[in-house]
Amino acid sequence: MQTVILKDDSKGIASAAEMLSAGGVVAIPTETVYGLAASAYDDNAIAKVFKAKGRPQDNPLIVHICDMDMLGEVAADLPDEAFALAEAFWPGPLTMVVKKSDKIAQSVSRGLDTVAVRMPDHPVAGQIIRRSGLPLAAPSANISGSPSPTSAAHVIADLDGRIDGVVVSGDSRVGVESTVITLATKPPRLLRPGLITAEELKAYLPDLVIDSAVLAQPEEGQKVASPGMKYKHYSPKTEVILVEADAAAFADFVNGQRECAAICFDEDAEKITLPTLCYGSGEDEESQAHSLFSCLRQADGLGVKRVYVHAPKKSGVGLAVYNRLIRAAAFKVIKL
Ligand code: AMP
Ligand code: MG
Repeated sequence: MQTVILKDDSKGIASAAEMLSAGGVVAIPTETVYGLAASAYDDNAIAKVFKAKGRPQDNPLIVHICDMDMLGEVAADLPDEAFALAEAFWPGPLTMVVKKSDKIAQSVSRGLDTVAVRMPDHPVAGQIIRRSGLPLAAPSANISGSPSPTSAAHVIADLDGRIDGVVVSGDSRVGVESTVITLATKPPRLLRPGLITAEELKAYLPDLVIDSAVLAQPEEGQKVASPGMKYKHYSPKTEVILVEADAAAFADFVNGQRECAAICFDEDAEKITLPTLCYGSGEDEESQAHSLFSCLRQADGLGVKRVYVHAPKKSGVGLAVYNRLIRAAAFKVIKL
């Protein structure tokens, strides 16, 4: 299959919408990461998404909408909180799991009676959804398990020849995937942290619970509320180990290692004698989110056997960064 490279202008947007209406799969930019989109009404198109990514069959997809009318089409029995949260955070990187409507293809929700839905805050994504008239199921546009794509180049590196098209736009602004909450349980649960923090959500959902899988590996055989949380994920080929330490202890530790590299904060770099990649400031978690996946991809170009990552704080947006890193590290964490 030849992957068509499209611009993010009106012609490219129109071509992407046509491909999607015809049952194709097209990578599109969003504010979080690039998504691999397909019609949420078309089981055949959804099957192509799973095949192109090599995605585990039990991992459901997020459906992307462009307005509240579409929310009414894809969801059923919406609780009042859904409208309040939509008003506060949409368009934006918040995904809500709610009861699904009958129109959503079974293959989107992988047999669950719920659907995960969000309205992306990216003009190109919004126009592609509007133009196609379709809610778009769109997981991250990478090979399953590899770091999520924050540029069109990342998408092409993973999926060239496996998908119908890619709409080339700039780098993703946020850099980590959306916050996922479920409103289908009582109390509501945070399933995946993102740019919209638990602290912000608690103003609307005072009884919000943080799912145990956010910060730890689910037990063997444990039933997880969000199937995506149980997998090793976001990993380069190089082994990743997460190191929880202050700046001095991190530098001391990594400087004693051989044939390794460090992914660290801007402020750490001058103290470290190994090859380094910086993923933002230790004081600015949004900068870390923005650069994290790109740094994990670059690790494979360093020619080292292992990379040690200086762990972020576990609060605010740092919780999202930490959540991705423990999975990139297959839950290998050193605490100094
Ligand atoms: P990705 O598509 O890679 O951004 O991952 C989507 C995340 O949302 C995964 O962790 C899924 O398990 C989760 N998800 C999608 N739909 C549902 C659902 N209906 N219920 C619970 N989690 C969901
Ligand atoms: Mg993904």
